[in-house]
Amino acid sequence: MEKTLIIKNTTLVTMNAQREVLTGASLAVAGDRIAAISTGEDLRVRFPDAEIFDGRGKVVLPGLINAHTHIAMSLQKGITLAVPEGLYRVMWPVERALTPEDITVGALIGGAEALLGGTTCVVDHYFHMEGVTQALITLGLRGVMGHTIMSRLGPFTGEQELEEGIDYVRRWKGRHPLVTPWLAPHATDTVSQDWLLRLREVATAEGVGLHLHVAQSHRELTTIQQHFGTGCVTYLHNIGFLGPDVLAAHCIYIDDAEMELFAASGAHPIYCPMGHALHGKPQRAWELLQRGAGVLIGTDCVTSNNEMALVSELRMAGAGQKQLTGDPQALPAAKILEMVTVDAAAAIGMGDRLGALVPGYLADLVMLEMSGLHAAPTYSLLDNIIYACSGRDVDTVMVNGRIVVQDKRLMTADATELAKLAQERGRALIRRAVEKESDLAWLWK
Ligand SMILES: [Zn+2]
Repeated sequence: MEKTLIIKNTTLVTMNAQREVLTGASLAVAGDRIAAISTGEDLRVRFPDAEIFDGRGKVVLPGLINAHTHIAMSLQKGITLAVPEGLYRVMWPVERALTPEDITVGALIGGAEALLGGTTCVVDHYFHMEGVTQALITLGLRGVMGHTIMSRLGPFTGEQELEEGIDYVRRWKGRHPLVTPWLAPHATDTVSQDWLLRLREVATAEGVGLHLHVAQSHRELTTIQQHFGTGCVTYLHNIGFLGPDVLAAHCIYIDDAEMELFAASGAHPIYCPMGHALHGKPQRAWELLQRGAGVLIGTDCVTSNNEMALVSELRMAGAGQKQLTGDPQALPAAKILEMVTVDAAAAIGMGDRLGALVPGYLADLVMLEMSGLHAAPTYSLLDNIIYACSGRDVDTVMVNGRIVVQDKRLMTADATELAKLAQERGRALIRRAVEKESDLAWLWK
């Protein structure tokens, strides 16, 4: 018989079509699905054998979807912080010293940090994705995963990377309930036009999405301008690449006309608030949204952000846009929550079963501790969630009906052991990188 459980006496931020917030409510989970929601006492009668969780003092949200990250980059935490052109000068040279095992361990660490910070689904791409995918399954995290494909500049390039990216999709399609494989060309300046066109074709034929970086650096923009005489987004539009199945991280170096191309094509710019702030150049996310673009939110990797907790990122998302626009009403809390739940679920093709607390939907949810000083008093619940809570208030996380974080403790791996591994393997990685490239000696402190 299917295992059932009930969370009772709680507040549900449903994100359903009416965006209802239900207080004194209960939610039942059966197997991998939300079975029922009620504000009465009937669920205990309907599910007499269910395990009961008391949700008093807590708020339940749909599981949060991180629309752009690389969970495996945990061993490289913070190394590009405050480095101009850090991607080219630090990130890729260090990545050349990575082993496949480093990447698997990194994914366990990053995935664990993501879960503990309230993420239930990551949209992710990196190298050596078999290990990353196994780590994701071990942790019980959901993922839209791709093998990073680069034809030039990066640590791993060459025809075999293109073929592996396509093979990865074919190997993982329909294979595991937590894994949705996508194609992941790295960026407009690191993947040739021929490869981008081939990947666009394969994505359409296989019915999978495309996840890449677009206009993330000034160097990327000038490279595309030199070769094609346009900006990065216009270039992708001109070759017929853009569509609603495209997630485009960053979109910082874009002009007004390119903002309109997102609205017209349905492609999704991904706003990474903390990474962009640390990089010194914000994305015009609120303006993009007002022009009709389907902007989503990601943390990006810890190399450029330093943390994976999506709940913490949301505060930066709102604050960043209010500061940028000079408008305190820009990017309200309700919209921020939509971007990491219903909007993101629709963008990854799962809008009919993920992103809201609705009976029949997959049981991905996050419980925030809201009984402490940090959240009292509550005049505006959604504002308190965004501006008074952090990743450390995540109490319980469920993915696909399985409790993976309980009482702020990771249930699927030993977080203390992972932190130890991060220190050991991280230092060994940097030592190898410095041995290979003496320019990186400053990293070794
Ligand atoms: Zn990225």
